[in-house]
Amino acid sequence: LYLIESEASGVKALFSIFNSTDNPIIDNFISRIPETYSQCLTYLSSLMAGPTPTGNDAIYQNKIRMESSIRQFHSRGQTLSTEVENALTRLRDPSSHIFVSVHQPNLFPYSGVFRKIVLAQTLKDRLQGSQQENKIVNLFVVIDRDFMDETWIHRAQLPSAGNSGGILELRYPVRSSERWQMAFKNPVPSSGILYQWKEQIQTWIKKSSPKSSRSDLLKNFGDFWPYVEESQRSARSFADFSSFIMSKLVNDKWNYDTLFVKLSDISYVLKHGFVFLLNNFKTYSSALREAESVLRFNRINDTGVSPNVYLRSPLWIHCTCGSKGSSVIQAHSNHSASLVGKCVSCKKGLSISLGSPTGLAIREDDLPNLSPRAIPILLLLSRELGSTCYISGTGGTSYAVYNAFASHRLSLRNPVFIFWPSTDSYDGFAQSEALKAAGVYDRISLIEHEYKLGQLQNDYLKEISPLLKKRKELLGHEEELQTILRQLFKLKQQQREVRKSLKVARKALKALNIKPCIIDYVVNFAGDGTEALWRGSLERNNSLASEISWK
Ligand SMILES: [Zn+2]
Repeated sequence: LYLIESEASGVKALFSIFNSTDNPIIDNFISRIPETYSQCLTYLSSLMAGPTPTGNDAIYQNKIRMESSIRQFHSRGQTLSTEVENALTRLRDPSSHIFVSVHQPNLFPYSGVFRKIVLAQTLKDRLQGSQQENKIVNLFVVIDRDFMDETWIHRAQLPSAGNSGGILELRYPVRSSERWQMAFKNPVPSSGILYQWKEQIQTWIKKSSPKSSRSDLLKNFGDFWPYVEESQRSARSFADFSSFIMSKLVNDKWNYDTLFVKLSDISYVLKHGFVFLLNNFKTYSSALREAESVLRFNRINDTGVSPNVYLRSPLWIHCTCGSKGSSVIQAHSNHSASLVGKCVSCKKGLSISLGSPTGLAIREDDLPNLSPRAIPILLLLSRELGSTCYISGTGGTSYAVYNAFASHRLSLRNPVFIFWPSTDSYDGFAQSEALKAAGVYDRISLIEHEYKLGQLQNDYLKEISPLLKKRKELLGHEEELQTILRQLFKLKQQQREVRKSLKVARKALKALNIKPCIIDYVVNFAGDGTEALWRGSLERNNSLASEISWK
């Protein structure tokens, strides 16, 4: 019974849709996912006590190769701190271990993105403290070749009962011609857009905060916003802009030594991995096909992984227009093969020569025009960097399952996969304002309140409709008609009140149900307060699944 309970509510609950598959590869993968923070520590320290990845010279060379891209990121982003320099020194150590997390360059990301970094750092600090010989490097890879069209790359949300829909949305306007641009090819937001966001946020604070805390909240915002303005000045692309803001919060405000690097800058680090996957395409492809058919057989359709992904090569080809296209491997003769595809945006044909079909290769010059698809990213980072653990977002479960099949069939070692699905539960000023507007004190009361109002609305409908019928029948019977009309008038007035309250309650529910962007956290708890609460929750609660309460 205990097992069933913990499975339903713990980290593994994320994978409950895969329970029915009864597949040994999936079962084995899921069984190795840590349930608690202390289990992460146990798994990692036993892994790190074993033989270090020193033996692998290729991995060492890749770490060395990556250093200049990391340095470039931090020096442009103005976050090349002493801590970052020290982490770079550790990276150069052949016996260092790498903890990896990745994410798209979201506009003012929500908590899940930052929590990956906080978890990695908390684990690193603890492991390094307990065994001085441990040399751990936290690496965050920005998936900057994703499309601008992706929702959270150009949109961020704040709770706001005063706005229609209960949400204040900050939007980076993406023209239809830019939808399929890769984030690292898209321009930096203009100063005008930044000014507009700043105004929106300040108005939001002023309108929905109590007077007693308003100046503190505005001060917290004032402390954070220069990061945004500085990032805008030093960024050369939209991806730079968003990831510089993250790096400033992480490396500057929190003083972390997390190393940031952009995926588009490390193609040459992943080169051997690209070539390996291309030359082992049959195995790679059949592993993905196997994953897909197991999931399909079990009627698991909503995975987020595009169907028939096994037909495509592991690489995207970039187009000169700033977009990219899927590709397939084509052999033209015994002597020549190439990757061919079509640009998603401008539909131009794309082609990259792969040399001889018996030993596919990639020319150095072509590397900047190639980037891995989502599933191969995990395979490549673990193969080329020998990563010890991979901290995944909760949306990445299906990708992780596909990755399990591919790494198993390709005989690649898998890092420890760690998930932290806990939700944040807090009432910032805007959440409190939403509750107040609905006339309740907490979330549970709000849900009950909304439900009751919904019922009440139905009751009024039931009461009113027979009266309407009667009104028709009584036409000509003046006296009785007047009584009915008076009844109707009163009921309709009450109905309108209920409808109004219901609208407010639903708006409040929406405001409370979004995953707010980081601005909500920094305004309410200041930048460092936010980090302290997340870290504290790991150390205190040990659970990776229970709610993080901010009270
Ligand atoms: Zn194109």
